[in-house]
Amino acid sequence: MSKIMAEYIWIDGHQPTQKLRSKTKIIDGPITDVTQVPKWGFDGSSTRQAEGNHSDCLLYPVYLIQDPIRGGENVLIMCEVFNPDGTPHESNRRAGLRHISEQYKTHEPLFGIEQEYTLFQGRSPLGWPDGGYPAPQGPFYCGVGSDEVFGRELVEEHLELCLEAGLGISGINAEVMPGQWEFQVGPLAPLEVSDEVWLARWLLYRIGEDYGVSATLHPKPVKGDWNGAGAHANFSTKTMREDGGLKFVKEACKKLGKKHKEHIAVYGAHNEERLTGLHETCSIDDYRYGVSDRGASVRIPMITASDGKGYLEDRRPAANMDPYVVCAKLIETVCEE
Ligand code: ADP
Ligand code: MN
Ligand code: MN
Ligand code: MN
Repeated sequence: MSKIMAEYIWIDGHQPTQKLRSKTKIIDGPITDVTQVPKWGFDGSSTRQAEGNHSDCLLYPVYLIQDPIRGGENVLIMCEVFNPDGTPHESNRRAGLRHISEQYKTHEPLFGIEQEYTLFQGRSPLGWPDGGYPAPQGPFYCGVGSDEVFGRELVEEHLELCLEAGLGISGINAEVMPGQWEFQVGPLAPLEVSDEVWLARWLLYRIGEDYGVSATLHPKPVKGDWNGAGAHANFSTKTMREDGGLKFVKEACKKLGKKHKEHIAVYGAHNEERLTGLHETCSIDDYRYGVSDRGASVRIPMITASDGKGYLEDRRPAANMDPYVVCAKLIETVCEE
């Protein structure tokens, strides 16, 4: 037996957008399963999760990965927050997704999340002239060259850390606005993809510390004629993935249209600044789906249309969305009889 560092990671009570918190506990290792990790607690009055006079909140370990930063046998542990009486804390949105994914598990939902983010140094996006603007958008998306992309060293290191940690990261790309990037996680089951998106975000913020660069998930980090940042949710069920599944993809698109407002309400704060109808988005007030249409709310990828089966891409979620909430909402709307 040896002592290891376990970084307990949880989501706080900050509104309108919850934030990541973490702290370290020295425990006996090695740990191979999350059930071996002891429960822990924290001062909820410092995270907007409790009043000062009843401030204890509990941390229940739920998802375990290797810690690629500390290395060795050290681990990162995603946690759910519970009240002292053993009920899920109201800030604990994962608990809701646990119920929904259990309820609809026969549909075998899968998600691939595209996480866009913007790197900042001081008050400007990384690589932007101090207090000024770079050349207009156009050459930067998937660009190469020191005049086109900014922050690649950090981005590459983040990708390697995710892979070392065993996360199901499936790709990265430079985005339309300079200093903006994307990573994709999935396709994975709802709880897995959500835990892993949160852990990948944590790794991004953490590695940013070493570069003096911060990543923001604000959906419109720079006002004006600059792309916002989203978190497209690619979603499929078993029937959508089977031969003839396109019919179920289209049915799902129609169901989503009937609950457009309900979905927008939980797709991230400040999303109205991003969903303007410009910059590869559909207006927040409209709902539209279409094959290969990046100006639609929901896109049916070309490959899905041509294969006659596959998945849909909900383009509405903002970069700062909570994957626990978005996955739960999509499953409920699409899988409900
Ligand atoms: P885009 O063309 O919109 O930029 P990306 O390649 O960035 O697309 O992301 C597509 C995402 O779709 C990936 O995360 C991938 O894992 C996910 N995906 C692929 N197949 C499925 C599927 N059957 N169900 C859910 N997600 C899927
Ligand atoms: Mn993408
Ligand atoms: Mn993108
Ligand atoms: Mn996309």
